[in-house]
Amino acid sequence: MPHSVDRRQALRQGALFIGAVGALSLSGEARADAQASPIQQCPPPTKLPLQPEFPTSPPDALPEPVRRNLETAMRAAIKVVSPAPRFRGFGAVLVNVDDGRIVAEAKGGDGPGTNHAELNVLRNFGLLHPDGEALQKTVLVTTAEPCPMCATCAIFSRVAGVAYGTSLEFLIGHPPTRMPIRISMPQVVATGPLPNMPVVGGVLHEETDPLFM
Ligand SMILES: [Zn+2]
Repeated sequence: MPHSVDRRQALRQGALFIGAVGALSLSGEARADAQASPIQQCPPPTKLPLQPEFPTSPPDALPEPVRRNLETAMRAAIKVVSPAPRFRGFGAVLVNVDDGRIVAEAKGGDGPGTNHAELNVLRNFGLLHPDGEALQKTVLVTTAEPCPMCATCAIFSRVAGVAYGTSLEFLIGHPPTRMPIRISMPQVVATGPLPNMPVVGGVLHEETDPLFM
């Protein structure tokens, strides 16, 4: 019943308040226990809006050989993860900027929370080419908008650009896709050391969106 839910929330908030007050007056081990769950006191992430003032780039911001093979690359990323588990169609490839060839591919999956397609493909290819130059000559093409972790990984890898299919907004609107962090890839890029990195969204999204439904 809604009433009982409200009552439970009130009791929980009250308990948190009492816990916080108690933490101020306790010392040693008791204080550590009272402060052990700070995450519970944060507002739910679903209350935070996406920031629309960080737009994606036009497709012609990508190098021409990549642009020419962009749909082929996206379909390869889709194929990497197919048949995709429901809501979990995360696949990614790297495309060489000189000739548009696909040089690496990976998918996300279960296990550690860092098992993301984009991070996997960047790390795997980077380990094979540790000088970093090969990575800088690629564009990351991925079925869905990278999370902040993978967006940062792309920036640190200094790739020449990113293109994705399904938007973060779509993922948020189609739970239970696990995409709880409401910071868009363009927003991460805008606040980082490579603010001009191209980020092209919506590539073949009519084919990638069903991977997350
Ligand atoms: Zn990610």
